[in-house]
Amino acid sequence: MSSSATSDINDLIRQLPSVDAVLLAGKGIVAEYGHLEVTKKIRDALDAVREQILTGDILQASSEHITSQVLADVQSSLEEQSASSLIPVFNLTGTILHTNLGRAMLPESAVQAVVRVAASPVNLEYDLEAGQRGERDTHAEALVCQLTGAQAATFVNNNAAAVLLVLNTLAQNREVPVSRGELVEIGGSFRIPEVMERSGCKLVEVGATNRTHLKDYKKAINSNTAMLLKVHTSNYRIEGFTAEVSETELAELAHQVELPFVIDMGSGCLLDLTAYDLPKEQTAAQAIESGADIITFSGDKLLGGPQCGIIAGKSELVEAIRSNPLKRALRLDKMTLAALVEVLKLYRNPEALVQALPTLRIFTRPLKDIREVADRLSGALVKALSEQFLITTETGTCQAGSGALPVKILSSIAVVIASADKDDESIRRLEQKFRKLPRPVIGRINKGRLLLDMRCLEAGIQEKEFIAQLATLAASLADAATEQ
Ligand SMILES: *Cc1c(COP(=O)(O)O)cnc(C)c1O
Repeated sequence: MSSSATSDINDLIRQLPSVDAVLLAGKGIVAEYGHLEVTKKIRDALDAVREQILTGDILQASSEHITSQVLADVQSSLEEQSASSLIPVFNLTGTILHTNLGRAMLPESAVQAVVRVAASPVNLEYDLEAGQRGERDTHAEALVCQLTGAQAATFVNNNAAAVLLVLNTLAQNREVPVSRGELVEIGGSFRIPEVMERSGCKLVEVGATNRTHLKDYKKAINSNTAMLLKVHTSNYRIEGFTAEVSETELAELAHQVELPFVIDMGSGCLLDLTAYDLPKEQTAAQAIESGADIITFSGDKLLGGPQCGIIAGKSELVEAIRSNPLKRALRLDKMTLAALVEVLKLYRNPEALVQALPTLRIFTRPLKDIREVADRLSGALVKALSEQFLITTETGTCQAGSGALPVKILSSIAVVIASADKDDESIRRLEQKFRKLPRPVIGRINKGRLLLDMRCLEAGIQEKEFIAQLATLAASLADAATEQ
C-alpha cells in the first residue's frame, strides 16, 4: 500500500464521529428506543464503517455524512427489531378454522370485551355482592349450562387441557377403556393415547379399528376401571363395515357399574347445524341428553370463540375437576374469559348469530357472494400482475379445518394464478411475494398453480385491504424482474 493511500485512510478514520456525537445528533431515536440500545447499535455501526474504510470499501466520507448514514442504519435496524412478529394475515388456504392461522375470528362484541378488561382491574375472582373472593368460572358457567343443559362447567386453556384435566382428576392410576377406532391424532400434536399416558391413567384398547361392540366394553370393565370415554374422531371417518356403540348405550353401561361416562366432543357445536344447511354434527346438549356425565370441547373450533377448553356436566364431577391443583396451571386468563362470555351470549339469539359470529357467517356464506368477490379480485389481479400470469376462477371445495367437521363439504371459489409459460418457479416466487406483503396472503400451491380460496375473504374492508396491497405486490414483482 502506498504511503499516500495510508494517509488517505488515516484521514478518513479521523472523520469517524464519536459515539457521543452520533448520540447527540440522534436524540429522537434515543427518546424512542432508549439510550442503552441505541448506543450499542451506534457502536456496532461505527465499527462497521471503520472496517469498510480499512478494507478500502469507503474511499471518501465526511463526518456529517457518516453520522447521518449511521443514524439511518441504526433507525432501520431498530424498527425491524421492534416490529411485531405476530400479525394479521389473509387466510386464503381453503381451510376455514386453520390451526396454524389461529382458528376462529372473534366477533366484534368479544373484541370489545377483551379490550375492556385488558387494561383495567376486573372482578375476575371477586364477588361484588359479597365483597369477597369469588370464582372465575362463574362468569361463563351459567351460559354454558343454559346452552348445554349441563349442571356445571369449568374452563381451561384448550380442549387438550380439558381432556388431560378430566382424565387426571377422574382416572389417575386407573383404567380407561377406549375403542380402537377412536385412538385418534388431531392436528399432529394431540394424540389420545399420549394424552392419556400423561394424565396418569391407563388406556385399555377395546374392539377393532372399524368395529367396536358393547360386549367389548363390558369385557374391559373391572374394579380398576375409572370411566368410559368416547372420543369424537373429528377429522376422519371410518367407512364400510363399521360398528360403534351409541352414546346412550355407553352411558347406560357406565351407570350400571356406577362409573362416569365422558365424551371428548372435539368441536363445540352448540346448535343444530342442519338449520343452516350444514352437515349434521352432534350438539353439546344432545351429548348431555344422551347421558354423558362430562363433556369436553374446544372454544375456537365450530363454537367460533377464543382458544379455550370447556368442561361441562354433573356438578360433583365438575367440582372435583375444578379442585384439581392442575386446574390452576390450565386456567383461563381474564381476556379469554371475557371473549368467551360474549361469544356464548350471541348463541342465545340463533337468528342473529349467523351475522354476528364470523365463523358461522363464513361457513354459511352464499356461493354467489363468494363468486362476486372472486370476480372482482381476479379483475384486480389481472391489472396488478404482468401477462406472465394467467388468472382464472375455479369452483371447488374448502374444509372446516381443526377437525371441526369431518370431511370436505363446503363448496367455494378460488382465484387461480398460473404461469403463462408453465414456469413453476415463477409461481413459487409469486406465492412468496404474497406472503411478504404487509398483511401476508396465505394461499396454497396445487399442481404448479397458486390457489387463493375466497370463502374467507369477505366483501368490504377486507376486500379493499387486499386490493390496496396489490400495488405493493406489483412493485415488488417489478423489482425482482429488474434484479434478474
Ligand atoms: C381438536 C380436538 C382436541 C384438541 O382440542 P384443542 O382445543 O385443539 O386443544 C381434542 N379432542 C378432539 C376430539 C378434538 O377434535
